[in-house]
Amino acid sequence: MKYFDRNAWIYLDGRFVKADTAGTDLFSQSVHYGLSAIEGIRAYNTHNGTRLFRAEQHYERLRHSCEQVGIDFRWETDVLVDKTYELLDRNNLRSAYIRPLVTTGRNMYLTPATDSSIVITAWEWGPFLGAGLIRTTLSPYRRPSPHSLPMDAKVSGQYVSSIVATTEATKRGFDEAILLDHDGYVAQASSNNLFIEKDATLYTPPVGHIFPGITRQAVIELANIFNIGVVEKQLTPDELKGADSAFLTGTATGIVGVAAVDGTTFPEAWSDTMGATVQRAYKNLTLEKENYEVII
Ligand code: PMP
Repeated sequence: MKYFDRNAWIYLDGRFVKADTAGTDLFSQSVHYGLSAIEGIRAYNTHNGTRLFRAEQHYERLRHSCEQVGIDFRWETDVLVDKTYELLDRNNLRSAYIRPLVTTGRNMYLTPATDSSIVITAWEWGPFLGAGLIRTTLSPYRRPSPHSLPMDAKVSGQYVSSIVATTEATKRGFDEAILLDHDGYVAQASSNNLFIEKDATLYTPPVGHIFPGITRQAVIELANIFNIGVVEKQLTPDELKGADSAFLTGTATGIVGVAAVDGTTFPEAWSDTMGATVQRAYKNLTLEKENYEVII
């Protein structure tokens, strides 16, 4: 995977610099303890030009993530959105994945972060889990508890848990891990939210023990427009395995259908599912082929 070459620009603390000239501080809290916050935004090549999907919401979430773990966030959302468009332009990217990252300064104590720095990078990236249906497994690892860390903070250190779960799942030959929460209910995949369909209704775990994804929210909005019922409720592993179909949602992934969980294959053909309907609608929404806000 190539993230940048010698011509690539990144945005760093108010300036555009060449990616290969920028470095990091080896004494920063971010490197040692994972105290940094990230976002993942997508830009789509639409008939209206290159468009960021819900960029304001992503940058507001970045602010919120930082605030929750005591990282100083002093950047304005509209400036960051403008700079992101400029970054895409400078890199000649029409569709891209954008990764803003807020790092913290030198501090080997476990005291609050001293200073912070923002970097925005972008590269071309296809769907995170590919375009086909994926095979999942229930992970032996559980999501971090809301009693340990704020659930809605997209903080780098949290991803150690996601990486450990994904590594374990792929070693056993699966594409993705599904993690339970600390109470033993189904929470989500390692970096995606989860929906199941059962008897013509969609179900998804409620916020509180999951990371509340922006794609998840878009799916709920689209389902409402299509008169598809969505119930947010805790799901047991048996309810997951007894579903008619299931799908995962996330910015990098988009919407991807789940073929099976461990030995259980979902019975409904993906093309007939509500997930497939929402998947088509989400694509149209991000490509600005439909303006569902106007339809409402
Ligand atoms: N869960 C986790 C742990 C994530 O990191 C992400 C995003 N990368 C998601 C869910 C999906 O969130 P979103 O739809 O906002 O991308």
